[in-house]
Parts: sequence; structure tokens; C-alpha cells
Amino acid sequence: MDKLKVLFAASEAFPFAKSGGLGDVIGSLPKAFPAEETDIRVVLPKYECIPETYTHQFKFVNSFYVHIGSNDQYCGILEYKSDNVTFYFIDNEYYFKRPGLYGYYDEAERFIFFCRAVLEFIPYVDFYPDVLHCHDWQTALIPYLYKEQYSWHYQNMKTVFTIHNLKFQGVYGFKDIANLINFDYFPSTLEFYEDVNFMKGALYCSDLVTTVSPTYAEEIKDPYYGEHLDGVIRDIADHEIGILNGINDKEYNPQTDPHIWTNYTSSYGKKMENKAALQKHLNLPVDPNKPIIGMITRLTEQKGLDLVAAVIHEILQMELQFVVLGTGEAGYENMLRDVAGYYPDKMRACITFDEDLSRKIYAGTDMFLMPSKFEPCGLSQMIAMRYGSIPIVRETGGLKDTVHYYNSQTKEGNGYSFATYNAHDMLFTIQKAVGLFYDYKDDWKQLTKNALSCDFNWRHSAETYLYYYKKICGRLN
Ligand code: ADP
Repeated sequence: MDKLKVLFAASEAFPFAKSGGLGDVIGSLPKAFPAEETDIRVVLPKYECIPETYTHQFKFVNSFYVHIGSNDQYCGILEYKSDNVTFYFIDNEYYFKRPGLYGYYDEAERFIFFCRAVLEFIPYVDFYPDVLHCHDWQTALIPYLYKEQYSWHYQNMKTVFTIHNLKFQGVYGFKDIANLINFDYFPSTLEFYEDVNFMKGALYCSDLVTTVSPTYAEEIKDPYYGEHLDGVIRDIADHEIGILNGINDKEYNPQTDPHIWTNYTSSYGKKMENKAALQKHLNLPVDPNKPIIGMITRLTEQKGLDLVAAVIHEILQMELQFVVLGTGEAGYENMLRDVAGYYPDKMRACITFDEDLSRKIYAGTDMFLMPSKFEPCGLSQMIAMRYGSIPIVRETGGLKDTVHYYNSQTKEGNGYSFATYNAHDMLFTIQKAVGLFYDYKDDWKQLTKNALSCDFNWRHSAETYLYYYKKICGRLN
């Protein structure tokens, strides 16, 4: 049988352009599919910030014009191959030659252009996918446009839409964008409190909707997590599923990671060398007997920073050290800086985005705190376990699916967790973890070993995606 052809459409992919977890996923998942069975390609905008080491190797393939509003916009197609995956870049300097990825006044127009360009570039690269797999709001208009305006161009192409974060949906005023989408009428599939909602369109028009963890797939049917789309999610529940993300375990590998001081596999001693080096690096007292808790995160409410703020002095009353690396809302940045100033021997707040330091923190800490209010999947807790830093998480979304409370009777489990979004429940859970660290050394080593041996390879996710691709294409044996 012919290889299954899949085109990923997304707004970012590591190592070309990344602002968060979406970039990690689009950079890694396509490479995890079996090359003998699949031909996976990816299409992205060609941003200004893509490093020259890659752009120098881009090959020009073709160009055409996309009609958007009353304009014809140039659309160049560039190509780059890496590990069996072909990446295409949509080149238009008016929309994408800007310093950042997102946050511009004409965001809707930029990504409507991109969605149209994806649907129109297919004949120019002569790659007719069986499945067009779109990710997050920036590409969410594709399934709608395909169904309403382009389906007669392509035979039997199926669409899949993945929600990486339901919070960002692409909501714009009808009048502002009507001529960009060529509306003859206001379709109910896009209507959202009298505005246009791109993501709602994708939920109703795709053959399959996925989210990035089984728990999040269920949670978003509830108004607490549903971001006002819970009714729609309940409506499409028969074709909405959760497939857990993985991590790039070659990239995040304590055995080979060039960013850390001493490489290690399951050796507790060598991990401790990284701990001492981290304490020295951050000018904290070097003390192997004191646990260090790390946090590496966007500093937003989603990540549970309000819980941390509520009990931070209680946390620091314990015999431990606390290291936070992150950027985000100014209130949280200032709070962390201020508190760190009060506890020069116990806490560091590194308010910056620093990949190198992040690896050193994963390797040098004993515990990793992630008390998220909601978490579609979360990669950081998996990276932390890969480096033997014990996650302490709130039981939500992918955190619930990947972190299991350590049971000292059976010696099973890879971390600590709490259910209710409550600062004192979090504090109590940290106290339990710190108690185990001090009083049950053998258990702590066992727990660290359990975390280090978790397998979060992308292969598992790719197998599940492939099963569902085949299912919607009628290719299951
Ligand atoms: P989200 O995508 O919601 O921000 P994830 O846990 O899925 O959260 O992914 C976050 C990724 O970004 C991880 O790879 C994490 O290490 C990285 N990261 C977050 N903040 C920083 C920072 N300040 N410096 C370096 N890396 C960071």
C-alpha cells in the first residue's frame, strides 16, 4: 500500500521558531513516525527570526499569489529536509518579516493568509496529503476553509485539528475580517458571541479533533476548563480524543547533554555533582543534604504562580533551597525577585529565558514544582523526570497522566501530586516530598530511579496518531 501522506500545518517548530510547547511538538513529532509507512511534511511561516544556519540551506521551490481581501499577496515556497521530514516555509515579507512570531495588530490577517496559502500551495509542491493536520488557533481556519471553499480541489483529504491550548482560540470581530474570509453569510460553525472564532470552526469542520493528553480531553468538556467552548467539545465528543505528548529524549538526555556539568544515567552520585555545581553557580550554600526545588516556567496564572505567591514564605521556612527560572507577568517577576532578596541563602529568582540554565536546573535540582491551574499536557514535568528531578504537580491535564504519587509500600510512583487548586494543599504536598527526602533516603533514591526510568519517547504518540489517521482514511486492516 502507498505510504500515508500527512501534512502538518503549524505556526512554529523547533529549531526554526519556538515560543513554547507547540514548537517542541511540531519539531519532534513528525520525526517519530515510521518512514517506511508514512511521508510526513510540515508547513510553517518563514519568520525573520529563523536562524541563518537553516535559512542558508532553504531551497526555493515555487511561488504563486494568494488572493486575500482585495489584494493578491506573494507566496514563496521554500524547502528544507531534516531526518526524513520535509519542512516547507511560506514566504511573505509583508506578513512575516517582523522581529517576533506573534502579537501584531493584523494577527488575524497574517494567519488567514497563512491558512489560505497552505490550502493553495499543495499543487505547487505536488504533495497531495491524505491527512492535513492543523495545530492551534493560527491554523484553525484551514478545516473550515477546506470544507467551504477548497474541497473540490482535493479528493478525499481528511483534516485533523489538535488543541494544544484551548485558551487561545483566535476570536475576531465579524466586520473586521469578513472580506478576508469571503463570507456570503455568517456561518454558525464560526459564530461565537457575535464574533468569529477560528478554533470553533476547526472543532466543527475537522474529521478528528485531538488534544495533547487524555485527561485534558475530558476536562475541556467542563465549563471550568472549557474556555466557553465546552458545549462545542461535548457536541463533538464522538470524534475528540486525547493523545499524550512526548519529549525529544535525544535532545533532553542527561547522558549526553552538553549544557550540564557532569553527564549521568541512573547514577545518583553524578546527579549530586550537578547539584553542587548548580549551588555554586547560583552562589547558594553548597549543601548536598538540603533539597533544592526548581521551577522553570512562563510566569502566568496558568502555571499556578498565585499558589506559590500565597505560601512562598511558608515554603522558605523549610530547610530547602528554591530556584525559579522564568519570565512573564510583571507582578510575578517582581514578587519572585523581592522574595529572593529576603532569603539570600535559600532562594534565587532568575528572571530570564535561558535554555542553558534550564538544563542545569533540571539536572541540579531534587524536585520540580509545577502546580498548574490547567495544563493541556506540559513538557517540563517530563523533562524534569528525564533528569531525575522529582515532579510535584497539581493533578490536571497531562500532569495527571504523567505523574503518579509515590507509594512507599509498593515503591511505585514517580512524583508527588495534589488535586485541589489550593495553596495549602500544595504546601502540604511539598512538605511530604521534603519529609521523604530527609527521613527515607532509600525511598528517595528509589523514587529518583523510578522517575529516571520513565519512557516519554514520541514513538508512543506517533503510533497512536498513525492509528487514528488510518482510521479516518479507511485504511485500518
Ligand atoms: P508551555 O508550553 O505551556 O509554556 P510546557 O511545559 O509545555 O509549557 O513547555 C515549556 C518549555 O519551555 C519547556 O521546554 C521549558 O523548559 C521551557 N521554558 C519555559 N520557561 C523557560 C525559561 N525561562 N528559560 C528556558 N526555558 C524555559
